[in-house]
Amino acid sequence: MNDTLEARGVVVSGTGGVWTVRLESGETIEASLRGRLKKSNSGKRADGSLRRDTISAAASTLKLAVGDDVRLDAPESGDAWAIAEILPRRSKLARRAPGGGQGERILVANVDQVLVMCAAAKPEPHPRMLDRFLVIAEGNDLHARIIINKIDLVGEAAARERFEHYERVGYPVHYTCVKTGIGLRELHAVLAGRRSVLTGPSGVGKSSLLNALFPGSNLRVGDISESVNKGRHTTVGALMLPLPDADGGYVIDTPGLREVGLWGFPAEALEQCFPEIRRLREGCRFANCRHRAEPDCAVRAAIETGEVSAQRYDSYVRLLEELDADR
Ligand code: GDP
Ligand code: ZN
Repeated sequence: MNDTLEARGVVVSGTGGVWTVRLESGETIEASLRGRLKKSNSGKRADGSLRRDTISAAASTLKLAVGDDVRLDAPESGDAWAIAEILPRRSKLARRAPGGGQGERILVANVDQVLVMCAAAKPEPHPRMLDRFLVIAEGNDLHARIIINKIDLVGEAAARERFEHYERVGYPVHYTCVKTGIGLRELHAVLAGRRSVLTGPSGVGKSSLLNALFPGSNLRVGDISESVNKGRHTTVGALMLPLPDADGGYVIDTPGLREVGLWGFPAEALEQCFPEIRRLREGCRFANCRHRAEPDCAVRAAIETGEVSAQRYDSYVRLLEELDADR
């Protein structure tokens, strides 16, 4: 009789070989990929098109990633759990290989939002870095939010004044002080029931925030992976941290996100990743306007009126130069 027990779960860590999967029951187990799924090219025809005759053949063209929802077969006496099917992805955070789809590296699948955290001071906020993370989120069609922590160091009014232009672009900005608890209740609601990538420089209070929101959970983001990564080219894979009593919410630590550059973004796509530029660019005289020295540029005109922040524009120009240099 072949009545294998089935289960569903989410891949919470692993980078090939053995994967850690959190089952719907809350139990965490180790599992390997079914042989049939493992061969990443077996679902393709000779001409490169996808064969769609069976689900598992189509799924086998996907590489398993942290964040994937999977169907597993329970171990039959002594065997290990086997991942039998990757369930459809609703989103992903991926680095694109130059030239498009094929060499795409998925850092994490099924992300609901990206939270970029900065400190109002100590460390001093770094707008370029913040904008880089926002661009990556936009490039992956993911919602992004900004968290400004340590507002006790500068006062809430000063913090709001400094980051208000991000709210005008459309990004929700949360002002918090982990020390006194300001803004934490609202953030708990933002994290509950969602899978959130949390990123930002070290020292801004990511771990402190998680421990204040989820006391006793001992959640740590970033520091482990940063020390492991120091001076190396290898990246520790993404890690999903289940949030206690948070309605199935997870915080995702993705060290690969902090590797700067190398995102294989076509330079022409950059303007699409700045919502305020995207909204205005129809008004530029030239369809291929890069908003640099071209005449009648609606974006540069909007900087004059203050509608577009000069600081954001400066980030756009620098990222554009970086992408041009990469070609
Ligand atoms: P991470 O590297 O982003 O995880 O940052 P940590 O959580 O380790 O915090 C770095 C330092 O900032 C610690 O000494 C925290 O106590 C401190 N810190 C965290 N939140 C606040 C805050 O709201 N205000 C102040 N003044 N310090 C904070
Ligand atoms: Zn323009």
